[in-house]
Amino acid sequence: MTDSQQFRADGHAAIDWAADYLEGVRDLPVMSTVAPGDIRAQLPAAPPEQAEPFADVLADLDRVLLPGFTHWNHPRFFAYFSITGSQPGILAELLTATLNLNGMLWRTSPAVTELEQLTLSWMCQLLGFPETWHGHIEDSASTSTLAALCAARTALPDRRVVVASEHAHSSIDRACRILGLDLRHAPVDDAFRMRLDGLDLSDACAVVAAVGTTSTTSVDPVPEIADAAAASGAWLHIDAAYSGSARVCPELRTPGFERADSVVVNPHKWLFTPIDCSCLFTSRPEDLRAAFALTPEYLRTSAEGVLNLNEYGPSLGRRFRALKLWAVLRCYGRSGLQSLIREHVRLAELFEGWVREEPGWELCAPRPYSVVCFRPEGGDARSEALLEAVNATGEAYLSHTRLNDRHVLRLAIGNAATTEDDVRVAWQVLRREAARLGAGAPAGV
Ligand code: PLP
Repeated sequence: MTDSQQFRADGHAAIDWAADYLEGVRDLPVMSTVAPGDIRAQLPAAPPEQAEPFADVLADLDRVLLPGFTHWNHPRFFAYFSITGSQPGILAELLTATLNLNGMLWRTSPAVTELEQLTLSWMCQLLGFPETWHGHIEDSASTSTLAALCAARTALPDRRVVVASEHAHSSIDRACRILGLDLRHAPVDDAFRMRLDGLDLSDACAVVAAVGTTSTTSVDPVPEIADAAAASGAWLHIDAAYSGSARVCPELRTPGFERADSVVVNPHKWLFTPIDCSCLFTSRPEDLRAAFALTPEYLRTSAEGVLNLNEYGPSLGRRFRALKLWAVLRCYGRSGLQSLIREHVRLAELFEGWVREEPGWELCAPRPYSVVCFRPEGGDARSEALLEAVNATGEAYLSHTRLNDRHVLRLAIGNAATTEDDVRVAWQVLRREAARLGAGAPAGV
């Protein structure tokens, strides 16, 4: 066999593996139950001296690694924010690796930069953002927010404070730590939204408004925060990492985005794009360039008037991530994306109704999107035990948060393959395991 023939044979086997996986993942336990070290212990500690066939790698994927996977692409993965590695996204990732392009400069692969610009312009149109905005792709919301706050710090070097609600994601804390900025947490109201009374931005270089917080998906009052930011001159960054994708449905849009200096939206959360893909939009691209642009001699090119995207964020090398997002936008279309997101919101509403009507259970937060926060009666210990029990069944996988110092379960819907039956199974498992644990509340809140 020639190299190319071998590649085709291995490639067909890998695609078959992927198709079988997607077809069969519903029947696998969602959460891995291996013990720490189990997987590593089954693999050789030293690298092979001689080349091994790719088929052996594929075989070990099944034999050794599979039991160690918690399946994020499982339709009953309801933890954190449920995500989807969709078929167009998967295939585009294969092509991205095949091409192995680095879009650090326009010159190093003009189509990478131009497709990224086009795709982000499509995103502005789909999500209702001003089309004049600059947008580019980072690996994660953590990096996007770091870049935005770095631009804010550069624009207002005498101010060293960032303000965000106490429910803001920890990526804001981390960005502040990296940038040497002080994070001041603003308190939240009883719906977990940033409170405006006492909001003081006079010493802040930036304020972060969360639209879709991690715990409850609560929505900070962006128009009022934008007023306060405008009055003080602070940069307004909106963290819509999860919920931003829902703006593809006009009825799920919340006001004030057009007043932001920057916005982060993660298509790898709720837009069916395989991890990693985070879109950073800004109305102030020159401030991002001021924070990041450097051109060592070896990166100078004769191309003039072109966009070199490495000048807008921390990393120089840039993967061709736009291909998968473009493929997803094309292969679903606006209406396909809308149907899935509306269905996820409908399923969350359905589940919320079941919890509301079931004696012995309570809802713990309002539900703006597709995440339901709830718990069984009986205190923290029972809620914690229930989470462990449900996840151990492998039939569904949920995560938790703390609200008002109480342990709360979260059911997040966001996988493209999730059906009403999957949500029903999760509810059955929750009630069955709760009954098995008994009503007795171990000491708790
Ligand atoms: N912002 C919000 C609201 C999040 O929920 C998350 C992660 O769940 C992040 C930011 C960080 O995202 P990433 O993992 O892409 O850095």
